[in-house]
Amino acid sequence: MTSFREFAETCQAIEKISSTIETTNKVADLLKKVDVEELPLATHFIMSEVFPAWSGEQLGIGTSLLYVSLSKASGMAIQSIESLIRTTGDIGDTALLILKEKRKNQVTFSSFLEEQPELSITEVFQRFKTASEASGKGSQEVKVRNLQFLFTSSTPREAKYISRLALEELRIGVGEGVVRDAIAKAFSVPVDVVEHALMVTNDLGIVAATAKQGGIEALKTLGIEINRPIKMMLSQISPDINADIRDMKEAAIEWKFDGARVQIHKSGNSVTLFSRKLENVTNSLPDLVEIVRKHVKAESAILDGEAVAVDEDGRPKAFQEILKRFRRKYDVEEKMLGIPIQLNLFDIMYLNGRTLIDLPLVERRKELESCVESSVEDSKSICVDEQVITGDLEIVEKIYREALRAGHEGVMVKNPNSLYSPGKRGKNWLKKKPLMETLDLVVVGAEWGFGRRANLIGSYSVACYDPETSRFMQVGKVGTGLTDEQLKELTEMLSGLMEGGEAGGVFAIRPKVVLEIAFEEIQKSSNYNSGFALRFPRFIRIRDDKDPEEADTIQRIGRVYSQQMKRL
Ligand code: AMP
Repeated sequence: MTSFREFAETCQAIEKISSTIETTNKVADLLKKVDVEELPLATHFIMSEVFPAWSGEQLGIGTSLLYVSLSKASGMAIQSIESLIRTTGDIGDTALLILKEKRKNQVTFSSFLEEQPELSITEVFQRFKTASEASGKGSQEVKVRNLQFLFTSSTPREAKYISRLALEELRIGVGEGVVRDAIAKAFSVPVDVVEHALMVTNDLGIVAATAKQGGIEALKTLGIEINRPIKMMLSQISPDINADIRDMKEAAIEWKFDGARVQIHKSGNSVTLFSRKLENVTNSLPDLVEIVRKHVKAESAILDGEAVAVDEDGRPKAFQEILKRFRRKYDVEEKMLGIPIQLNLFDIMYLNGRTLIDLPLVERRKELESCVESSVEDSKSICVDEQVITGDLEIVEKIYREALRAGHEGVMVKNPNSLYSPGKRGKNWLKKKPLMETLDLVVVGAEWGFGRRANLIGSYSVACYDPETSRFMQVGKVGTGLTDEQLKELTEMLSGLMEGGEAGGVFAIRPKVVLEIAFEEIQKSSNYNSGFALRFPRFIRIRDDKDPEEADTIQRIGRVYSQQMKRL
């Protein structure tokens, strides 16, 4: 068993260094030391995860629960903890201070502690797991008791990282890239083999343990598995789509549907559906499950597609309609089922035990067509997205116009020879759609409304993402464009994410919720830490299919700003 102390020491060391190479070395040293059984846990922990992202397991520990547990473990009043957080600005530093103080005052207690066995990584995980699984009556007590146990059995330094881990934010800047390189280094395996193993397993914990146990050979045997969702391949906007098509010589053109991405796992009669964020949405979409059961003729398969809400004539409805269906987690109301869904399939990653991501698109396409059976009458509920392979720009333009006329978003332009690259955004999938400049931004703060909206959150501070520092940089405040219903919905979503205290009706929000924002112009501004400000920002929609790290980046804002200056 590896002690949690070793893990906390690594975090502390990393916090003091800024070079990525040194950070990677520290992570590699840790991975080498950890037992193979605990390696998946340590690998996730160091990336601020308790459970692998694909598992759908949610830790569900909010700040208030953490304050109660810290208060019980230390004897300090919750108000004092909150005011300490306002000065330190961080839960980890606060936990460290509180527990140091407590130990100083309790010499006898600390001598007792010295005799206590050290906390292991497994034990920390198990306490988190028990807390996360508690539900229903009495669940709060169970959660608090388990966290309190961790705080009373840990040293102040361990408590610092336990409390940050409880909020899944270690603040040490270690992401997937660093851990991938660290695995390669620790177990002397090539980075590209680790990268491929990550793409098929979507779990660096499994990759690390496999690399340690069986090296390169074992890594190469890893494949895709049903019900372990892989990341979605992503697309990008091209600044010059015609040049890109010319480069490809021939491109595969498909309609771009405006709905919700869905990854479908089928094994026999069992069908599981995952959203773009890899949440299990099967229970919300029983009609989609039926469609797949009826029309997908494969013993086992993993398919990629877009679910679109349609009206009686099969025309697509607004994107919000389908998201309403995805959000219904438990009681799928009758009226929700009244919104018919059409499933448009465009890719296949796995078929009857074979991983297909390393085949070119044209080959995958043949496999996809071979296992979907639907007649013309069925096309309202399922279809394989039509694909035209062409190098003729006029034909591309014609398909694009047809797609828009049929009520879709535009077209996708894909490289026919490209492999399926989970989680990658690149030139192999490009999108062509009418230009309406919007940004996907993350809510990092909020303010109560007033008057009629006094008990609703009325305005939101929004931020872009800086992938280089993993920080969110504020670009403006949004308070217009929202209906009362949307305000209510957002108030509910955000109230569990408040951080620290409230000052004059204003408070910080943990960066979790992404909004699509329209605006008139980007200006340079010293009011916000991004150095930019949006002029006339306007709410368009909630992007709950996106993770905060997928928000628009500070680099994109810089680019839009420069393009705008050129146009002036
Ligand atoms: P965007 O959300 O604007 O980045 O556009 C990419 C999204 O378009 C994908 O994630 C899919 O949800 C959606 N989409 C619709 N039709 C297709 C298609 N034929 N191929 C790939 N993605 C598609």
